[in-house]
Amino acid sequence: MEYRIRAHHGMCFAFFQGKGYSGAFTENMWKMKERLQQNPEVVLLQETDDVCAKCPNNQNGRCISTAEKEVPEGVPSPEKAAGYDGQVFACCGLAPGVRIKWKDFEELVRERILEAGKREVICGGCQWNELCK
Ligand code: SF4
Repeated sequence: MEYRIRAHHGMCFAFFQGKGYSGAFTENMWKMKERLQQNPEVVLLQETDDVCAKCPNNQNGRCISTAEKEVPEGVPSPEKAAGYDGQVFACCGLAPGVRIKWKDFEELVRERILEAGKREVICGGCQWNELCK
């Protein structure tokens, strides 16, 4: 079983305490967190993943809660979440599609983002920001 994880969720898992977008979402987060503790190989993405799979903001494989800005009617707005992913990839020296052991990724996120004080620079605009301080 290979888990699909979008890169910025490496930060979300570091702070998750049971709050989220819906009951199904938080239940899935707990399950995923438990599975990831077994240190499986994961594929890192810049798109919806196994966490988004149970999120009410995932509409047809696209995150709608974090749309970056208003755009003309009919034009899809960029995913703010994909921007977070891109910054995590850059900080960790990784790229979408990479396969990595979960704990190795967790360590990169801890060292290069959380301990480096970059977390809020990346996702300070997220609605859950206060929970991650
Ligand atoms: S808010 Fe968007 S990025 Fe976050 S879990 Fe839901 S669909 Fe995925």
